[in-house]
Amino acid sequence: MSNDESPGPAPNHEPERGLPEQLAAIWARVRGRLQNEVGEVEYRTWLKHMTLVGIDGDEVTIALPSRFLRDWVRGHYADLIMLLWQTEMRVIRRAEFIVRSSVQIGPRADVPPPEPVVASRFVGLAAVPPRNEDRTEAPLDPRFSFETFVVGKPNEFAYACARRVAEMPASPGFNPLFLYGGVGLGKTHLMHAIAWELTDAGRPGGPVTVAYMSAERFMYRFIAALRSKSTMEFKEQLRSVDVLMIDDLQFLIGKDTTQDEFFHTFNALVDSGKQIVVSADKSPSDLSGLEERVRTRLGCGMVADLHATTYELRISILEAKAARANVAVPPKVNEFLAHKITSNVRELEGALNRLIAHANLFGRAITLDSAQEVLHDLLKAFDRRVTIEEIQKRVSEHYNLRISDMSSARRARAVARPRQVAMYLAKQLTSRSLPEIGRKFGNRDHTTVMHAVSRVSELMALDATFAEDVELLRRMLES
Ligand code: ADP
Ligand code: MG
Repeated sequence: MSNDESPGPAPNHEPERGLPEQLAAIWARVRGRLQNEVGEVEYRTWLKHMTLVGIDGDEVTIALPSRFLRDWVRGHYADLIMLLWQTEMRVIRRAEFIVRSSVQIGPRADVPPPEPVVASRFVGLAAVPPRNEDRTEAPLDPRFSFETFVVGKPNEFAYACARRVAEMPASPGFNPLFLYGGVGLGKTHLMHAIAWELTDAGRPGGPVTVAYMSAERFMYRFIAALRSKSTMEFKEQLRSVDVLMIDDLQFLIGKDTTQDEFFHTFNALVDSGKQIVVSADKSPSDLSGLEERVRTRLGCGMVADLHATTYELRISILEAKAARANVAVPPKVNEFLAHKITSNVRELEGALNRLIAHANLFGRAITLDSAQEVLHDLLKAFDRRVTIEEIQKRVSEHYNLRISDMSSARRARAVARPRQVAMYLAKQLTSRSLPEIGRKFGNRDHTTVMHAVSRVSELMALDATFAEDVELLRRMLES
């Protein structure tokens, strides 16, 4: 990947606090080299949140803030991390990865101080006024920057394209930039991030003029101009900017005159070497009702979609938001939220903000119990009746199995135990009979289900960690 796609300033590898100086320096080097090896995006997505716990004999211990991240890093990067450690310290033979929330052990060096903005937005106060009112058509949200955008598999391409355009607007191949995706997946966030970057006074080459507005606003302005017979001014104004950004283009559909005007403006700008950035909820080819010529022009630059979030991205987003707000959120709570609220990031953020506000208000720590209590009504909206399929899906996800393992004949403990857990939960959470449950698990006998139920209850009584696990799954499924 060329340099111009590197997402922002390198994460600083400042020595971590509390470590002997020399060790901290080695760790900073290991992290730096790791970042070079895997690239910026991967580093930021998975590895940035590692902290060094220490070295004991031939073993290095590294902490990650959630079980998911821990497992992921161990599964994908353990060898590389070991190798890099060995080049620094020959004695190291083993790497141990543990879960420890970085938030709980004090703010990290690379996390900015708490921003009251989170809380004020939660209670509905107005956002901070834009710093460049004269350049933009709508106020830019100061929270929507590249730095606060959490990158993961579903959005890394769109993110990279956005960065690229922010750095070098109007490059061939990236004009227009068309960002699309479902509600609350970060389109507006990325658009604002581009606009912030382009209008930044400290930008290399100097700031450029940007007009950012929603398609609705565009239409409103155009109609107002028609009424006041000032369409010429409107056109000239728009055609004088360096970058035109139109958010939620789908709202132009069916508005023929406005669409026409947009098309002419669009062409005039592109022809004079200006950048266009457009967002919509669908790809150009799926935006039915769009005029063919508009569709064609929209699709001829770079089209990048924001996919639905994955569990891992939701976890990273929650962790990043909590870290920014400087609030300790137990990994279990993040896991719970990420499982429960899968629709869009806005909802996820809303839930977290509510927990944070509640914790601040009552001066109490956030726990799984308090989270369920505080979000009770919100989560109810996400509730449906739990099905056996859903239980199987959740349980296999949780234990990193394929859903087919739930009905397979495999008897290995690593598969059989989760399968028993799923049967247990099916008995607990649905009104299905034992034979019915057995049938859904690869046509097993009802005595097998009975055995699973009693075995899981037994184990839960014996093993607190196991019990907590099953309990978490139950809460996630039910609530
Ligand atoms: P859209 O315009 O696609 O409907 P938004 O850009 O308004 O969605 O995003 C909804 C909310 O979710 C915003 O508060 C935004 O900051 C947040 N958000 C979405 N994706 C991310 C992400 N990858 N990292 C951080 N925040 C995100
Ligand atoms: Mg939007």
